Amino acid sequence: MPEDQKILYLTFDDGPTPEITNWTLDLLKSYDAQATFFCIGNNIQQHPEIFQNLLDSEHAIGNHTYNHPYGWRTKTEAYVAEVLKTEQVMSAERGVWSGAIKGNQSPNLQYRVGKFGQLNKTSVTKRHVRADQQPSTRPYRKGTFGQVNNPPVPKRHFRAGQQPARTEKARSGGSTTLSYRKGTFGRPTHLFRPPYGQIKPSQGKQLLALGYQIIMWDILSFDWKASLSKEACARNVISKAGPGSIVVFHDSVKAAPRMKHALKATLAHFSAQGYQFKSIEF
Ligand SMILES: [Zn+2]
Repeated sequence: MPEDQKILYLTFDDGPTPEITNWTLDLLKSYDAQATFFCIGNNIQQHPEIFQNLLDSEHAIGNHTYNHPYGWRTKTEAYVAEVLKTEQVMSAERGVWSGAIKGNQSPNLQYRVGKFGQLNKTSVTKRHVRADQQPSTRPYRKGTFGQVNNPPVPKRHFRAGQQPARTEKARSGGSTTLSYRKGTFGRPTHLFRPPYGQIKPSQGKQLLALGYQIIMWDILSFDWKASLSKEACARNVISKAGPGSIVVFHDSVKAAPRMKHALKATLAHFSAQGYQFKSIEF
């Protein structure tokens, strides 16, 4: 990422995970730090309440496939299907495409223009909101909503007349990728991280065509490596990261013993150096 400012981009792969993800959220909050969580679709389905905490946070959420396959061993069609399945799970959890509201069950939207910025009744149709997620009862704040939403959901997810706005690029005929307008449900992330960093050119090409940004890293904490001491794990990050670095941690059970220590040390060290911790936005 741009190297002209003291900004670190912390990323957490493989969640949501019971205990660990919430612990991570609490610690980040205590440093007023934003991060990016690359979630596994299967884990989202198993722990929707933890995913909801991510949705309610100010962090960005990216796609990390459904079952964490090795890209080089997976056929392109199956690989892309993994990503789209996760997108669908994430969309359902956000209430963007749940199909949960049918017929005349109007959620009685109470968005006020101004309070929610660009949200308004015309841009939010009733099927976008789950019955148990009435906007009037949820503490949406402008900006909170922000970074999690509006993935490059394929066209078929939308009924005629309810398609999201096209991007500038799409409007000019450069792409068929659909995207929400910024502000309709917040800022889109469009982020994808390949498990193990493995992705074939054919897979990457298709995901780029769908509108994803593929996010790798420059600093690995090696927090998953059981043979590594927690101090060495912290050193991996502190001695190598600098302005614009994208750092990989894991909010997983396996990594937790090292991640917890290394994350605390990283936040303390770089805060003292005047760094800010930001989520990745595209
Ligand atoms: Zn992973």
